Amino acid sequence: MNDNFDPDTLAVRAGTLRSQFQEHSEAMFLTSSFVFGSAAEAAARFSGAEPGNIYARFTNPSVTMFETRLAALEGAERCIAFASGMAAILATVMGLLKAGEHIVASRSIFGSTVQLFNNILGRFGVTTSFVPPTEPEAWRRAVQPNTKLFFLESPSNPLTEVSDIRAIADIAHAAGVWLAVDNCFCSPILQRPLEMGADIVIHSATKYLDGQGRVLGGAVLGGKALMEGVYTFLRTAGPTLSAFNAWVLLKGMETLPIRMAAHSSNALELATWLEAHPKVSRVLYPGLPSHPQHELAMAQQKTGGGIVAFEAVGGKAAAWTVIDQTRLLSITANLGDTRTTITHPASTTHSRMTPEQRADAGIGDGLIRIAVGLESVEDLKRDLERGLALI
Ligand SMILES: *Cc1c(COP(=O)(O)O)cnc(C)c1O
Repeated sequence: MNDNFDPDTLAVRAGTLRSQFQEHSEAMFLTSSFVFGSAAEAAARFSGAEPGNIYARFTNPSVTMFETRLAALEGAERCIAFASGMAAILATVMGLLKAGEHIVASRSIFGSTVQLFNNILGRFGVTTSFVPPTEPEAWRRAVQPNTKLFFLESPSNPLTEVSDIRAIADIAHAAGVWLAVDNCFCSPILQRPLEMGADIVIHSATKYLDGQGRVLGGAVLGGKALMEGVYTFLRTAGPTLSAFNAWVLLKGMETLPIRMAAHSSNALELATWLEAHPKVSRVLYPGLPSHPQHELAMAQQKTGGGIVAFEAVGGKAAAWTVIDQTRLLSITANLGDTRTTITHPASTTHSRMTPEQRADAGIGDGLIRIAVGLESVEDLKRDLERGLALI
């Protein structure tokens, strides 16, 4: 497949490999190793002189198909799949940094990523400074002589803050630093960070790439040379995506373009309704003109995406009432599912932050995050109205 195809086509067809049986739909290769025709062929495969499968810790055709399809969608030279999004983030740092080096990260990133950078990588001598995602100048000021990596998510969770990817990439490159973007919230259908100057894109495939809440997976994408270190970490340490999960993700990606369009239009409709609701004090959705970075979001994303955050009037008690009155929405922290999910970040995903850190980050006790699914928006409104009417 070449790059001339549109994303809708690449999502369905890029990367497909066929075995001798000429199956139409991608096969699942459940095998831990591959046989060689001769000792010489085995030697050539192991030395890298000849391409081909060796052992499923680092080569499997189902996984290769997933990697090729995602690389085509992100416009990346190379994609390396991992067992989860967190494994992908760990592999990026383990593959590219060493003790004594430094990361500048957005302060609004996934909670486990903060723990990984602070508590685990910190023990191995990699330090991290956290900066506001929406102030590029703060990134420039945080650069140290030993800084190697910038790391951000845009839009952020749960406040949907939008980072200026091109501006932050320019600052990174002027300082000789790589920029990694966790593109989980947008997927390559809505945002392609490599085109805006990012060096590395990271995915939790668990979210929109699967899209139906079934499996965990992750990926790191970028230029060939940069990905070599990440691949060496995979091959040696083994945080490998299983063939089964790769196959599920391939099937999920076929519907990614139409799902992202539907998630986005449902989210915009719900956000518009919430913004007009008297029991809602503010709505954060990049697709709304009231969003603080609406113009930037619309310049770098195709739509506002599927995540809506809003503040119920009356703090934590009000937020819990809205959540507890739902019958249709799933109370779960997952996102990117066909089923709409609802969470109270302050007491779940962001409960490991201190109250002061949450206040600094703008995550109030009344904040609710909704990952809008593919149900009827009218049904979603009715489900939320039940609790909103009580507060
Ligand atoms: C879920 C998530 C991750 C972690 O991915 P897992 O597949 O759960 O390991 C990383 N970043 C973001 C933005 C996420 O939402």
